[in-house]
Amino acid sequence: MIDLHCHILPGVDDGARDLSESIEMAKKAVEQGIHTIIATPHHLNNRYENPKQTIIDRVRELNKILLDEKIDLNVLPGQETRIYGEMVEGYETGEILPIDNTQYVLVEFSSSHVPRYTEKLFYDLQMKGLIPVIVHPERNQEIIERPELLYKLVKKGALTQVTAASVCGDFGKKIKTFSLQLIEANLIHFIASDAHNTSNRTFKMREAFSIIQAKYGNDMVYLLEENGELMIEGSHVYKEVPERIKKKKFFKIF
Ligand code: FE
Repeated sequence: MIDLHCHILPGVDDGARDLSESIEMAKKAVEQGIHTIIATPHHLNNRYENPKQTIIDRVRELNKILLDEKIDLNVLPGQETRIYGEMVEGYETGEILPIDNTQYVLVEFSSSHVPRYTEKLFYDLQMKGLIPVIVHPERNQEIIERPELLYKLVKKGALTQVTAASVCGDFGKKIKTFSLQLIEANLIHFIASDAHNTSNRTFKMREAFSIIQAKYGNDMVYLLEENGELMIEGSHVYKEVPERIKKKKFFKIF
């Protein structure tokens, strides 16, 4: 399988601290059945700056080392970009790096809110041929409170990625329940680890897929798994018609 969101590059953000941690993460990924990882360092999230070329160079170095270590894992360049108003310009000046130079761009909101300019910015990105992929919407407070915000963005062409550990309940029961509701409402297109290490923020991909399989069957597992492959090919991904999360049901659970 593919993991399209992972902080495996050494010493560039709050992920792997050094090369030995990157290697540990790579081994763990292979154990999980992952053959390809997109390295997605934070960019413009507080203190981290990882523009396009830096990431490409670091990924090349890491792949060489994995080859020497005989670890059968392919790392591709990506970036987890914190949303900001000038993302289109950032793309044009070569700062922003879409997933392996495809049209898919990982966009991170802060954990507390969704900027008012998001809809307009996503429209502008799409006009440039890019497709924004919202990472871990299930962990955003404003989306938790008003899931129709996410529904609207998805309706207008944004895609979303749920984090495997959220589905497993590692961020609490509420986030687990909300993650499953988003999946059920066809508001999720990808699943990824967002792994930062091999301890408290690890892969959990197999575990999450087994929960999804038990609840929603093989078709949902297939869609989420296949979409990762389609993404790195730069192809269109599978999308089911998104539904609104019914408020009544939502508040009963919370
Ligand atoms: Fe991340």
